[in-house]
Amino acid sequence: MKYYNLKDPQVTTGFREAVERGISPDMGLFMPERIPRLDDSFFRRLPLLTLPEIGMEVGSIYAGKDMPHDVMRQICEEAFNFPVVVRQVDERKQALELFHGPTAAFKDFGARFMAGCFRYFSSRDDKRRVVLVATSGDTGGAIASSFLGVEGVDVIILYPSGKVSSLQENQLTTLGQNITAIEVEGSFDDCQAMVKSALSGSVTRTRVKLTSANSINIARLIPQSFYYYYAIGRAGNGKVVSVPSGNFGNITAAAMARRSGLGIDRLVAATNINRVVPDYLETGFYAPAVSVATIANAMDVGNPGNFDRLRRVFDNDYGRITSSVSGYWFDDFRIREHIGREYRRAGYLLDPHGAVASLGLDAYLKHHPGSTGIFVATAHPAKFRDIVEPLIGQTVKIPDSLMTFLAGMKQSVMMKAGPQNLEEYLADRYQNG
Ligand SMILES: *Cc1c(COP(=O)(O)O)cnc(C)c1O
Repeated sequence: MKYYNLKDPQVTTGFREAVERGISPDMGLFMPERIPRLDDSFFRRLPLLTLPEIGMEVGSIYAGKDMPHDVMRQICEEAFNFPVVVRQVDERKQALELFHGPTAAFKDFGARFMAGCFRYFSSRDDKRRVVLVATSGDTGGAIASSFLGVEGVDVIILYPSGKVSSLQENQLTTLGQNITAIEVEGSFDDCQAMVKSALSGSVTRTRVKLTSANSINIARLIPQSFYYYYAIGRAGNGKVVSVPSGNFGNITAAAMARRSGLGIDRLVAATNINRVVPDYLETGFYAPAVSVATIANAMDVGNPGNFDRLRRVFDNDYGRITSSVSGYWFDDFRIREHIGREYRRAGYLLDPHGAVASLGLDAYLKHHPGSTGIFVATAHPAKFRDIVEPLIGQTVKIPDSLMTFLAGMKQSVMMKAGPQNLEEYLADRYQNG
């Protein structure tokens, strides 16, 4: 399998290099050259396959010669060692719960798979890998927990001081070992600019391999398709699948699975008021915007990084996209109202992100009386207790995995915003080592 650079499609590379670079030096995203069609025997066996078995088969196609099958099997077994749950909510709706991993959000799937790939690649030479990640909250926690203790890899996480929740901050700052948290006196955008600049800079290139773990890395994208095979294998073909979308990686992975032959009837791109993609689907014009804060904050993205990839899955053909993908958006008022209503109506507790997906599915099903569907629940409601509890009038139990983060000791490096500060830090840390 070859990967091409979206900014320069003539240039192709293999799986390993695409993963290790994360993004090309000109900041172009890597995209698989083709989306392989899976054979009928795979789909016949699908209802009986476990998630790691699906990962082994599909992942091996995407990794090609860069990773032996038994390594892929081991990575998937270690990465996906927690349940994926398909839960019936009512006659027409099922929830695909992706929040039973260590950080209680779906980003665990991509982060843990990516960490497994790095563990393998770094065992094959003695160059040190440095994984940089800018986070507004959830991504950093998933990356930190996934890469903890991985030999030969340092993880450096930049987060905006005072702008993440205390639970999220604990997830970033209490692990220690090979995980360093940098607390930036600035915004998430500052953090992102610092990471981008370090990745394109040359200061540390020669000593260490620098890479990014943001959701643009294909090693995070590919495993996010595995659970769609699993869900359709269990729930049956012909379902509508509604995905709560921010950077549009998760729904791009679903679209890739569909293109490979998976029986998803239609995709719903559900967003909060950051509605550039639903607007695009309606009008054909893509107008990136400045992101607006909402209660579904992991989806507060004004210019989704994976949107180009989503378009590529449909060969950049607007007609093809709109015949496969519907878009809906919802404001905080509707999200709140829906969380309370679904709890009373169906006894199902949603977090704000899952609520957006559930609303999107409802909106589609309303006009398609014969259809049934699955919405993706991406975060555990306990992560958003402050929002959820008043809406349902009850307390929400925190899962044990999250409790462990509440106990640790915070350790972080304070840094002023500005690309040169990160460059200097990296030079100090790695130039002489
Ligand atoms: C990141 C995130 C999303 C958005 O996923 P994308 O792949 O960026 O579209 C949705 N819900 C939660 C809880 C998230 O953390």
